[in-house]
Amino acid sequence: MQPGQLDNCRICGKLFLRDHTDYCLGCYKITEQDFKLVSDFLSNEQNRFATIEEVSIETEVSVKQVADFIRDGRIYAEDYPNLGYRCSHCDKMIKRQLLCDECFQQFSSEINQTLKRENLVDEIRNTQNKHNKQNNQAKNTNMPQYWQLKK
Ligand SMILES: [Zn+2]
Ligand SMILES: [Zn+2]
Repeated sequence: MQPGQLDNCRICGKLFLRDHTDYCLGCYKITEQDFKLVSDFLSNEQNRFATIEEVSIETEVSVKQVADFIRDGRIYAEDYPNLGYRCSHCDKMIKRQLLCDECFQQFSSEINQTLKRENLVDEIRNTQNKHNKQNNQAKNTNMPQYWQLKK
């Protein structure tokens, strides 16, 4: 995405002139304030074992927003034993990406299977085409013979 393009704010959906963020200036300011609240809260040694829900309650920043900070790598969840967000599929606590390892494995094997299925369909289609071509060729080679016979 080029800077200086019109885009919808990722947070409020308002159209804005895209610069270096995914959100409009208003949301950017709020997000930065939120980030400061969360990072201040987490930099307190006492809060090292906080869960994402506790962070959210204490800072009044939504769980989703805190999760975004972690996912964007702005907050390094590995430093906080209980901090993480839910896997998009099974609700297990994770500290990076969208899916837990199991769901990721499951999804990638499903994708592989789909790809294999698609390959198989392609293969069947190809052999079908080849078959048709051979049939056509057979017809073509038969044609002159037929005419020759008629002569
Ligand atoms: Zn906005
Ligand atoms: Zn999962």
